[in-house]
Amino acid sequence: MMKNWESHCHRCGLCCYEKIRQADGSWILDISNPCPWLDENTMQCKVYKRRLTVYPRCRRITIWRALFARYLPPSCGYVRNLRPGFFPKSRLVILESLRNRTDRR
Ligand code: SF4
Ligand code: SF4
Repeated sequence: MMKNWESHCHRCGLCCYEKIRQADGSWILDISNPCPWLDENTMQCKVYKRRLTVYPRCRRITIWRALFARYLPPSCGYVRNLRPGFFPKSRLVILESLRNRTDRR
């Protein structure tokens, strides 16, 4: 079950950066500020199996987050595969000046 669940993740690593909540409910992705455990060369977590204990701020993607979390990018596999169109849309903004870097991922 967990294997199937996690297969929705295509390991882009975009949920492993700081996100800044805006007053209007949207989020800005701060890709200058990665999780200390993210390997930015591979975009893989260096402690994946132990991540929830090693880094308490790490959040497992639950069905609730897959359906409602506005900070997940629209490209996230959980959002694309599981979130029906009438559910809340992703409201993650990647600053234009940073977009070239994230487009390569
Ligand atoms: S600890 Fe969590 S937030 Fe940090 S790189 Fe690993 S999966 Fe991403
Ligand atoms: S944003 Fe979604 S697809 Fe990308 S690493 Fe995070 S959970 Fe996986």
